[in-house]
Amino acid sequence: MTVFLYNGTALLSAYLFMEFVAWFSHKYIMHGFLWKWHKDHHINDMKPAQVRHEEGFVWEKNDLFFLIYAVPAMILMITGFAVQEFILVSVAIGITLYGMTYFIVHEIIYHQRLTISFLQKNHSNYMGAVIRAHRAHHHPKNKKDFDSYGLLIFPFKHFKS
Ligand SMILES: [Zn+2]
Ligand SMILES: [Zn+2]
Repeated sequence: MTVFLYNGTALLSAYLFMEFVAWFSHKYIMHGFLWKWHKDHHINDMKPAQVRHEEGFVWEKNDLFFLIYAVPAMILMITGFAVQEFILVSVAIGITLYGMTYFIVHEIIYHQRLTISFLQKNHSNYMGAVIRAHRAHHHPKNKKDFDSYGLLIFPFKHFKS
């Protein structure tokens, strides 16, 4: 039996790098040539809260991006275990943890597509700022607001409400 050794630096670097990947793909791909997949996410968010509540959970074409981002993590994970290269496995875990964070913060805490009430109230200062930054992207008051393409890293101004 092989002892599983993970590499914390590789894991954390992959996690942080994914915030860059998410920012980059949101800005240049989702609001670029794959806008046709991202559009329904913005349209659903324009609906009044009451309508969204009545509709319940609806799939969005935008959810396809989760599948796409899962592929490199799966390939790295399988390859890493196959060749016993735990740096690859650690990178795969970092990518996966980022995907889970994105799901919890973006789909559950911000868009409330599923009701998990303990996550949806009593936000920390930081989570409050995450929410304001993403709200600025969906409901911009000016052109610069719309520019909040990142999820966890965003302009400092969102800390002061
Ligand atoms: Zn967007
Ligand atoms: Zn959103």
